[in-house]
Amino acid sequence: MRIEKLAPKVWKFTDWPGLSSNVYLLDVDKIPTLIDLGYERYHRSLVIGLSKLGYKPTDIKRVIFTHLHFDHIGKPDAFKNAEFFASEEEIEDMKKGLFSKFLARFGIKQPTINVEIKPVKDLKFLKVVKTSGHTRGSICLWYSERKMLFSGDTLFNRGIIGRTDLPNSVPNEMDNSLNKLKKYKYKTLCPGH
Ligand SMILES: [Zn+2]
Repeated sequence: MRIEKLAPKVWKFTDWPGLSSNVYLLDVDKIPTLIDLGYERYHRSLVIGLSKLGYKPTDIKRVIFTHLHFDHIGKPDAFKNAEFFASEEEIEDMKKGLFSKFLARFGIKQPTINVEIKPVKDLKFLKVVKTSGHTRGSICLWYSERKMLFSGDTLFNRGIIGRTDLPNSVPNEMDNSLNKLKKYKYKTLCPGH
């Protein structure tokens, strides 16, 4: 687990080397918040990473998922004091079982999400930008004060965009979403991978 400080009270956790997802910790409004939880199987290293910064899993009060693919949802029930958020569309598709269908294609079992996930709303410091494409309910998060864009699997560095050929993708909405993102002149892109 590699930890990088991106801004005051904002850190990035990366599992390196390895094919994994990035997790971000933001502690800017007194409600320690994680953006995505990475792979379930890397949960332990995320916990170790958090402890290096002085946080226990029970200190995390809010988790926002950019989308609900298995490599972003981690082990949510380990964060006992957290509230969980994703877009309404994403919650709907999860309930329809679309994510398990996606995983079956790769022979992976969908981890059970046994916590309640609520519809995400703008926070004082963090704006929700709906970016349908990679999944129907994908979101990006805009932290305007630091000009940081948390882009999930919609946009990666070097202009690489997320896959839209998965069962719950909506390829025809991706361009629109990428256009929407153009108005967020970020200094730091914080992608899901
Ligand atoms: Zn994804």
